[in-house]
Amino acid sequence: MRVSFCQLLLTGAIMVNLVVLYYVSKTQQQMLKHKDPGRAASRRSAVSRVTGITVLIREFEDFENWVVGVVQSFLKERPDQPIVVVADRLPYPPLDLPDKRNVQVVLLQASPDQPYYVTRPEFYIKTEYTLLVPDGVQLDSTQQLDRLLRELEASKGKVRMVAAPVQTAATFQCLNLRVSLKEWSAVYSLSPAQVCDAVGGEAVVLLRTEDLFNLSRPMARPLTASLFVQSALRGWRVKAADSVVFSAHQRSLFMSAHSQWKADLNAKARLGRLFRDFRLKHVVQADGKEQWHGCGKDTSRCFGTVHDDTPEYLYENRWTPPCCLRALRETTKYVIGILESSGVRYWLEGGTLLGAVRHQDIIPWDYDVDLGIYLEDVENCEFLRSLDSGSVVDENGYVWEKAVEGDFYRVQYSESNHLHVDLWPFYAREGIMTKNTWTDHKQDVEFPEHFLKPLVPMQFAGVNALAPNNHRRFLELKFGEGVIENPQYPNPAKKRLEKMD
Ligand code: ZN
Ligand code: MG
Repeated sequence: MRVSFCQLLLTGAIMVNLVVLYYVSKTQQQMLKHKDPGRAASRRSAVSRVTGITVLIREFEDFENWVVGVVQSFLKERPDQPIVVVADRLPYPPLDLPDKRNVQVVLLQASPDQPYYVTRPEFYIKTEYTLLVPDGVQLDSTQQLDRLLRELEASKGKVRMVAAPVQTAATFQCLNLRVSLKEWSAVYSLSPAQVCDAVGGEAVVLLRTEDLFNLSRPMARPLTASLFVQSALRGWRVKAADSVVFSAHQRSLFMSAHSQWKADLNAKARLGRLFRDFRLKHVVQADGKEQWHGCGKDTSRCFGTVHDDTPEYLYENRWTPPCCLRALRETTKYVIGILESSGVRYWLEGGTLLGAVRHQDIIPWDYDVDLGIYLEDVENCEFLRSLDSGSVVDENGYVWEKAVEGDFYRVQYSESNHLHVDLWPFYAREGIMTKNTWTDHKQDVEFPEHFLKPLVPMQFAGVNALAPNNHRRFLELKFGEGVIENPQYPNPAKKRLEKMD
């Protein structure tokens, strides 16, 4: 076969092309690898952290702060001190920070042209420990950090965090903190000890970087309030190092009444948002003050329509939100007051009676209150008698309605909040209490009238209410034997109460 010069040239060109293509594709692959944020991030997080402390400044206001002063005070004592300032968005007016490699600003708000790790403070902190420093604090001596570190290392295993007071914080104190997700609540109380669950007042906190970034929301504000809610849930303890006092900047923050007002307002709003985000609806402060972050008269109920007798919160292993229990108690007290004053005989029914017998209150996972009434007494109550159809909003905002589902009445907490007390009208027929429509609840059955003769007083939800006599026999007739001693969710086929719950 004769190969022409032209053919030779062509073959050579193709070979060169292939080689070039191979290298181009290889470099492209490498470039892609480099650009993949996931890979880069996992590479970074796999790197073990070096000894030392990074200062993290998160708690400051845009409109007035001493962040630059805080940074300078640390750099003066420790020129190579790594410092990370974390903000939601680029602070404005801008922070005039020293242009140094060890001082970095991290913005939590993502920009669509940046990889995700850019917004993650954990990728900027290379040290084993992180020091959370509130605004307006200054470092007087490098020994302060050494002492905190010694305190933390000395109590390793017993505490995960060490907190030091800021000079101006008169409120610095050790607190017990009980957070219950099941009960949607956080309860603070003063602790006389040096080791506790949380620290109140302004504080500088030292902890392991790995611990900080193992939290669900490490950068949520207010930073320390958020930190201690999360650490309390993990059983982590904090040591209050009273002897290591940090001084406040010589010119205090928020000198004008207006900026103090603005700062207070922001802090309060953030705290409210934090508890709502964490779904903690009832907070008891150390001074006993209660805060409610759940439903009220002019909001909707905390949970949606109940299917299969199993409200949605049970599937999340939570019980009835405390705001709902409170509203149910309030509605019960109100309804019983009206029934009594208008001469309607009533009694605690079903699960409501069960709760009263067990602990004089609503069962902690129940979602409504049930009362039995005598049908013939309905005429005596002005709200019930007029309810052929439709509903009436009374002067206190409660909604009285005849249920569309059958011959029973429902009193709702308000027009928007549908927490309710159900009234089940029974009548006597040959000594048996019966009614015309029945639900598919197993406790919805006829019963001898002698249980109502007489009705007996029983404490329920803070009300001196009336209940059937011989309540044990009454309840066992309705629910089965041993029902008082063996709590169970309303529909165990859907969701069972586990022993460890
Ligand atoms: Zn509620
Ligand atoms: Mg019920």
